[in-house]
Amino acid sequence: SATIIDGKAYAAGLRARIATQVEPFKAAAGRAPGLAVVLVGEDAASSVYVRSKGRATREAGMESFEHRLSADIDQATLMALVAALNADPAVDGILVQLPLPAHLDAQAVIQAIDPDKDVDGFHPVNAGRLATGLPGFVPCTPLGCLMLLRDVHGTLAGLDAVVVGRSNIVGKPMAQLLLQESCTVTIAHSRTRDLPAKVRAADIVVAAVGIPKLIEGGWIKPGATVIDVGINRTETGLVGDVDFEGARAVAGAITPVPGGVGPMTIAVLLRNTLVSAGRRMGVSIDETLL
Ligand code: NAD
Repeated sequence: SATIIDGKAYAAGLRARIATQVEPFKAAAGRAPGLAVVLVGEDAASSVYVRSKGRATREAGMESFEHRLSADIDQATLMALVAALNADPAVDGILVQLPLPAHLDAQAVIQAIDPDKDVDGFHPVNAGRLATGLPGFVPCTPLGCLMLLRDVHGTLAGLDAVVVGRSNIVGKPMAQLLLQESCTVTIAHSRTRDLPAKVRAADIVVAAVGIPKLIEGGWIKPGATVIDVGINRTETGLVGDVDFEGARAVAGAITPVPGGVGPMTIAVLLRNTLVSAGRRMGVSIDETLL
């Protein structure tokens, strides 16, 4: 039965490595790295995420600037806040928690963020940098998945990978990262024909769909590594996009839900914020440790 990939432990180690570099950064820059988080409205899940991001930021020795706006603010007010954060020298990273209320244009807000403070990596400039191999910011969840995969495999070169899901936030950047690692990458999605066959052919399966237990154990190639990004709230609790019990019987390694990919996302956000602070202030950060 598969090795369980302990994302919680890996994330704790990453946060510790980040913290050791925050202290020298502070000494050199005369201030802490700063992350601004903007929350519009009262969405329950978003409030929880924002609170834990703030806590993790402070625990890493960084400064957290939290902006909570009422659900009925207009686009201009939100754009003005983003402009102010772009101009604020104490802010190294800007994150606008999604989803935004329907009357707001999320894409316009993302595009208003200074790409060099876009620690979520959602700005089209950063998507383009990732696609062309230029330094920028990579979305936190797929970068966290890649860290876990590298930890399991060392090199990924030549492996067949399938990414199930093609969102701008997870699926597409995940596929770009795996391509950069010289995997042979298949991107599957809602219109894919014969998903089981695509999964069966893969040494690495990344599931980012949002459908509980969509991926069955019988689809997994024996010994494959399975990364389950899905977070689905069901009557029986949180479940991933993969049938965990079925898949762990055949896989070589698998992430649990919860405790797999989830804890990586915030740790990578802190990593991106520290890297941003280093670039902006001309303080060298050892990215190989991160
Ligand atoms: P999304 O809804 O934007 O995208 C889902 C993708 O799944 C789409 O590209 C769609 O084509 C594909 N899809 C839908 N039905 C399918 C099917 N039957 N077969 C194959 N593909 C299908 O979702 P997202 O933002 O990419 O998130 C995906 C999941 O990951 C969600 O459960 C979300 O909660 C979770 N998530 C977790 C983290 C984390 O920190 N662990 C971060 C982001 C998202």
